[in-house]
Amino acid sequence: MVLFSEDHIQETRRRGRIEVICGSMFSGKTEELIRRLKRAKFARQRVEIFKPAIDVRYSEADVVSHDSNTISSTPIDSSASILLFTSEIDVVGIDEAQFFDSSLIEVCNQLANNGIRVIIAGLDMDFKGNPFGPMPGLCAIADEVSKVHAICVKCGQLASFSHRTVKNDKQVLLGETTEYEPLCRECYLRALEEDKEKG
Ligand SMILES: [Zn+2]
Repeated sequence: MVLFSEDHIQETRRRGRIEVICGSMFSGKTEELIRRLKRAKFARQRVEIFKPAIDVRYSEADVVSHDSNTISSTPIDSSASILLFTSEIDVVGIDEAQFFDSSLIEVCNQLANNGIRVIIAGLDMDFKGNPFGPMPGLCAIADEVSKVHAICVKCGQLASFSHRTVKNDKQVLLGETTEYEPLCRECYLRALEEDKEKG
């Protein structure tokens, strides 16, 4: 809906809201999160990113970019800790939200009710195609949800599914983006069939 797009927000006014950016692996969720946060930062808003401490892909504190416009990122163990860090913050970014506990939903509500703009990025589905962690709840309470897509590596259509290309049944398999491929629904179903045949 163009009318309610985040592009229409007056960046200078402090107004609580919740935005969710969700999609499969390789859909550009984090890039979109960073774009919005950088823009807020240009508007001299105080911005902070939180990510789950279990996300080991990035070891540095500042993951976002290496130019002068770097946004600091704080790894945290539980979603409730976000509340401890946000007294001086206008815009809170949360990356890899699917890995957080379900309290994140209440935490985000509380932040938005306190006038903070909350922008959440995360995987909407796990590799089995099931809703991932707190993401469905976050989509429900969001003022705006943006579903972003990758490109299916088999047929070039828009992809919503993250197919795991290695045999492992754990929901959380961290750090190895090479072990997933984005697929459209049709190619995803076909890949699952092929996986079954392989055993
Ligand atoms: Zn496809």
